[in-house]
Amino acid sequence: MIRVGTGYDVHRLVEGRPLVLGGVEIPFDKGSLGHSDGDAVCHAIADALLGGAGLGDIGQHFPDQDPKYAGFYSVHFLELVREKLVAAGFRILNLDTTIILQQPKLAAHVPEMRKKIAAALQLPTGAVNLKATTTEGLGITGRGEAVAAQAACSLEILSHGG
Ligand code: MG
Repeated sequence: MIRVGTGYDVHRLVEGRPLVLGGVEIPFDKGSLGHSDGDAVCHAIADALLGGAGLGDIGQHFPDQDPKYAGFYSVHFLELVREKLVAAGFRILNLDTTIILQQPKLAAHVPEMRKKIAAALQLPTGAVNLKATTTEGLGITGRGEAVAAQAACSLEILSHGG
């Protein structure tokens, strides 16, 4: 039995914050505003995984009013989500993620992001695909006001599977 999940996240880009995507800090003059580190990539993946397992969403499990998660390194959310999925009888098969950002170019950072995400989820890097696109200057991402990410995953039900 296979299940699929999807996730989507947007964070505003502001000066004075680091830009952390897929667990990697990317040199840039703006970064993601958020209670945690604002890593839209990890948040979209966490939502996809929880969604596929029928376990709700990241906000339910890790409330953004909780001081424990202030400045939280979001790769750790993936480790925690994986534990919840394993406890619920699921195994992650693969992920595919699209990062939507006008600047900076991300291609050079993608291999490191894949490694970090794969390690957190105990997956081979080949099971963690990451793509980056712009919106050709259009909309909130195109104007450089925000970074967005969307993710899809497939899960195998090993036991009861919710
Ligand atoms: Mg988020």
